[in-house]
Amino acid sequence: MDDPRAAMAAICRMAYERKLLDSAGGNLTVRIGDRIYMSPRYAGSLKQWQLDASDFLTLNLEGEVLAGSGQVSREGAMHLAIYRHLPMAGAVFHAHSENIMVFAAACRPIPPTSEQTDKFGEIPLVRHAASHTQDLADNVVEGLRPQAEKLEKHGIACLIPRHGIVCVARDLNAVYDTLERIDRGARMYLLGRLLDPPRG
Ligand SMILES: [Zn+2]
Repeated sequence: MDDPRAAMAAICRMAYERKLLDSAGGNLTVRIGDRIYMSPRYAGSLKQWQLDASDFLTLNLEGEVLAGSGQVSREGAMHLAIYRHLPMAGAVFHAHSENIMVFAAACRPIPPTSEQTDKFGEIPLVRHAASHTQDLADNVVEGLRPQAEKLEKHGIACLIPRHGIVCVARDLNAVYDTLERIDRGARMYLLGRLLDPPRG
């Protein structure tokens, strides 16, 4: 596949507009062969996700920066750990999406709500660890590993307590699709609670 950075920039802009990303943080990576392309640190707080292709960093699988002038994202270690432990992973999206955050803040797993999200099953919570730590990277890998075989067919995800979500998929389009479906599913669950009890 070609250089994915322009497509990654477009996805980040769209995700911010759709409240799947916020200015507080998040990070997107794509792996192509032995290269990892990564959104830079402070993409939310300083750039409001209005990134260009040239803002993305290129790293090797050991995490060394090969190209790009920005700083490595603070959850970079988590992304690298996921690629190391899940060989089928081709894209990782960490985000604080609006509807997902209701569940993350309350430390509740997200149940499937419709045919669009049934395939993911319940989105589990991982054990808590401070942001930007190796412990958090380890806990996220631990939460994703039992789902690893599903990557052959579709994306997988887990929630970080009081923080956000991590989605993993084979490629960029699939990881965006996973994030949007789960955020929509979270919204369906929340709005569904406003409906009258079923009649009959
Ligand atoms: Zn975060």
